[in-house]
Amino acid sequence: MKYSELSLLREGITGHKNWPRAWRDAQPKKRYDAIIIGGGGHGLATAYYLAREHSITNVAVLEKGWIGGGNVGRNTTIIRSNYMLPANTHFYDFSMKLWEQQERDLNFNTMVSQRGVLNLFHSDPQRDAFARRGNAMRLAGVDAELLDKEQVRQLAPRLDFENARFPIEGGLFQPRGGTVRHDAVAWGYARAADSRGVDIIQNCEVIDIIHEGGKAIGVSTSKGPIHADKIGIAVAGHTSQVAKMTGIRLPIETHVLQAFVTEGLKPFVDTVITFGAGHFYVSQSDKGGLVFGGDLDGYNSYAQRGGFPMMHHVMAAGVAMMPSLGRVRLLRQWGGVMDMTMDGSPIICKTDIGGLYLNGGWCYGGFKATPASGFCFAHTIAKDEPHALNAPFTIDRFRTGHLLDEKGVGPNPWIQ
Ligand SMILES: Cc1cc2nc3c(=O)[nH]c(=O)nc-3n(C[C@H](O)[C@H](O)[C@H](O)COP(=O)(O)OP(=O)(O)OC[C@H]3O[C@@H](n4cnc5c(N)ncnc54)[C@H](O)[C@@H]3O)c2cc1C
Repeated sequence: MKYSELSLLREGITGHKNWPRAWRDAQPKKRYDAIIIGGGGHGLATAYYLAREHSITNVAVLEKGWIGGGNVGRNTTIIRSNYMLPANTHFYDFSMKLWEQQERDLNFNTMVSQRGVLNLFHSDPQRDAFARRGNAMRLAGVDAELLDKEQVRQLAPRLDFENARFPIEGGLFQPRGGTVRHDAVAWGYARAADSRGVDIIQNCEVIDIIHEGGKAIGVSTSKGPIHADKIGIAVAGHTSQVAKMTGIRLPIETHVLQAFVTEGLKPFVDTVITFGAGHFYVSQSDKGGLVFGGDLDGYNSYAQRGGFPMMHHVMAAGVAMMPSLGRVRLLRQWGGVMDMTMDGSPIICKTDIGGLYLNGGWCYGGFKATPASGFCFAHTIAKDEPHALNAPFTIDRFRTGHLLDEKGVGPNPWIQ
């Protein structure tokens, strides 16, 4: 059923009894043209673009849990393209352009909200660094505005400008950045892929990748073996585990990242704001809760929950930035597992095993990449060669030394 004002009105007055399932409860076939392991945002978007852009519809997405149960439904919903290195800037801005047309493409309300992303700075050297980043963005055709203290005050009057521990000097603002409702993205892609014939198979864990003579030919799953000509891995925090099934070792570590939501408040913050003197950021959801995020917990783990020390650290940073937050009650907290590459940039490429493709290494920032990642990964799988936008994102760069060191911190992606 096409979602429209008319269908909403019709179902509204007839008691909402006739909405069909958003996607079928598919059972696995013995063979597919392509299998995507992982039903997160990236896996579902890949299946959608395989069907839409390349007419490859005999595709299965295999998800060990449920759609939206991974990071795609656990993140803090921020989208932006304020990167520094050309490869990342072009890739993430392509993603922004796909976000801008996503609701029409998918016929689904993913609540894309371009409310702007404001990065605060608190010192002269930090202003220089942000001015440089803003210039790099503008040279690449991306929107960026360097704001002084008064302009920041107008944009975000709840910040502390009078007596702050780290006085605010200004900010770098990307007006096209913002938020998107995270789990709606998973549901929207799942529904759109399913309507083009893709099988979405939940509760189906891939236990092994079957490969013979240097070529991947299928997977063993908790629902039995399934064969395919092409297999794409898009399992985010589990990338190194799944790649290891074929003996591939990756420069990826898995770390926990937490998110926090407060009680609902009246409109309080109408952009996304990141603190420049600690790892903290805040936005306000459409239900009114403030959504906070911070740094990694700092140890390797596959547990989707975080520890108290980082919670304490995030709250301290939040109150330093906006003392009025001290009065707000925190309602919920959870964690997700991050696939951290050693240069902070992602991997979307073929592997040395024929028919096996890899998508991973998204660090803390893979949600905003979802549309471009799906588009480029689908291209790589369908054509057996990268799209120009993901050509730099190879595994090989760690062997050859052509790193994409976005944060300039070398092999320590967790350092500020
Ligand atoms: C707290 C938090 C805040 C974040 N904030 C942001 C943000 O504001 N902006 C941003 O851009 N990014 C953010 N991120 C990062 C972003 O969420 C991830 O980089 C991105 O969602 C990862 O891609 P995905 O959606 O495909 O992952 P997932 O949704 O995790 O999908 C991977 C799927 O693979 C499945 N899987 C794993 N192993 C197997 C197997 N063996 N067989 C079958 N299925 C398997 C998993 O169950 C999972 O559903 C945040 C992450 C967290 C945790």
